[in-house]
Amino acid sequence: MESVGVGARNFTAMTTVSFWPTVRRGVIPTSKKEAPMFRYGTLYNKHSVLQVRANAGSESCVGVAVKQGFADEEDYVKAGGSELLFVQMQQNKTMEKQSKLADKLPPISVGDNILDLVVIGCGPAGLALAAESAKLGLKVGLIGPDLPFTNNYGVWEDEFKDLGLEGCIEHVWQDTIVYLDDDSDPILFGRAYGRVCRNLLHEELLRRCVESGVSYLSSRVESIVEATNGHSLVECDHGIVIPSRLATVASGAASGKLLQYEVGGPKVSVQTAYGVEVEVESYPYDPNLMVFMDYRDYTKQKASCLEAEYPTFLYAMAMSPTRIFFEETCLASKDAMPFDLLKKKLLSRLKTMGIRIIKTYEEEWSWIPVGGSLPNTEQKNLAFGAAASMVHPATGYSVVRSLSEAPKYASVIAKILKQDHPKASRSCQISDENISMQAWNTLWPPERKRQRAFFLFGLALILQLDIEGIRIFFHTFFRLPTWMWQGFLGSSLSSVDLMLFAVYMFVIAPNSLRSRLVRHLLSDPTGATMIRTYLTLNLNSFP
Ligand SMILES: Cc1cc2nc3c(=O)[nH]c(=O)nc-3n(C[C@H](O)[C@H](O)[C@H](O)COP(=O)(O)OP(=O)(O)OC[C@H]3O[C@@H](n4cnc5c(N)ncnc54)[C@H](O)[C@@H]3O)c2cc1C
Repeated sequence: MESVGVGARNFTAMTTVSFWPTVRRGVIPTSKKEAPMFRYGTLYNKHSVLQVRANAGSESCVGVAVKQGFADEEDYVKAGGSELLFVQMQQNKTMEKQSKLADKLPPISVGDNILDLVVIGCGPAGLALAAESAKLGLKVGLIGPDLPFTNNYGVWEDEFKDLGLEGCIEHVWQDTIVYLDDDSDPILFGRAYGRVCRNLLHEELLRRCVESGVSYLSSRVESIVEATNGHSLVECDHGIVIPSRLATVASGAASGKLLQYEVGGPKVSVQTAYGVEVEVESYPYDPNLMVFMDYRDYTKQKASCLEAEYPTFLYAMAMSPTRIFFEETCLASKDAMPFDLLKKKLLSRLKTMGIRIIKTYEEEWSWIPVGGSLPNTEQKNLAFGAAASMVHPATGYSVVRSLSEAPKYASVIAKILKQDHPKASRSCQISDENISMQAWNTLWPPERKRQRAFFLFGLALILQLDIEGIRIFFHTFFRLPTWMWQGFLGSSLSSVDLMLFAVYMFVIAPNSLRSRLVRHLLSDPTGATMIRTYLTLNLNSFP
């Protein structure tokens, strides 16, 4: 059996986690040789068994978890792969200020009156879609574990204001700053950034569900089966089956058990970040600015080891002059950079910068699968949010897109369910195919597919760059006209704008980056896919 060290020095924080089917306590040797760091490929062996070791003070405990519950290797990676323990610790944090869904929403009643729509998953995407759909008069049931929002989301203030959610922002920085190296001036974005108050966002989306009449069942969904009458039978824990006219999966990135994804697409990569919210003696940045990326070399010496070579940056939010949220982030990696390495880099960076931590309030383990395949748009079951591959491949952001697209998606679902009403359709079979296709096309129209192909090309390039390459890339990126790079980060560029972006970038790039871009376009599969997607998707559909 392969042994996988997850370097879980934070195991004390795991008291809320109870997901390993068999956990036995005991002491095992912890020689460094046994503990693979990263770039070690698949971390489970051919018997599909994952052994996890974690230290708790002087003791150690061993968990042996059968790799069950995942559709395939890709699904396992999306769920957390070798870092699954930390990902689940993040998801299982207790947030006492957040209401329980079950306390505020009426239970789903299974009777004669069949639900129009079941939304699976109670993250931001699921709650927003359930509320918007019910607002349009649909009978909506929401199903998922009754868990709080535990992630610290960051957003561009203007985007959240446009959603009418400015009241859910707990802190705003009037400007955002990027440092690339010691030789150049930092770059100011001229755009305000905010940290979302997860408690308020949860409360607000729940309030919208209550007001619109969403009903709720606290359960995991095991499968969705199509009944002979065309209805979706949503199979939950304890053998509970909820019938519905349509089901939408919003159960996060690792939804492979409930959805089919296109075969042969790019493999998923992962953005990982280790964060801490701490009290410090002093903070060297201006607390009125949000530090979006600091790529400066904190080691001040030539990279001598793998972990120093691997590009990571600091993301920092001053909640007060001395209460700071720091996060060491690996923008994207094929083999996710493990949290213990990110933690080591963060602590080393802070020490070098002379930042002394007095108190730690919270740790954050951020695992964001980026890239990967789109859902197969021929399936009847729909998807939304990270499950529908709506995470921006080059930035890892998805929350604003999900919240802003929920009303439109809900209205298409409402429209097609109306068309699909038994009285209005001759054959359930035929209309089912149609209804899902229309909804999928709303989510992933040709224009969105072209944009995504472009972002996947960008992601594949980023994955190949070392720290110097990254700095050159971003120096060029931030020399683009402001509307271009801001639009890229905010996902507001059309596919035509993105082409212009590429040409502009090529013109102003130094020769080293230009030749890299050409090589990448000609040799990386994402280059060919991007060209094909731009050329073959109905040219009339250009905006
Ligand atoms: C620490 C962290 C910080 C992040 N920061 C940002 C950020 O600043 N900005 C941004 O845009 N994105 C950020 N992301 C990415 C973003 O969180 C996710 O993309 C976002 O939460 C996705 O929302 P979602 O509703 O689609 O899925 P999720 O938030 O993953 O919610 C999925 C829900 O489905 C439930 N579920 C899972 N399986 C089942 C099942 N079988 N049956 C029923 N329910 C199920 C889960 O319990 C969960 O409640 C961050 C991610 C992390 C982990």
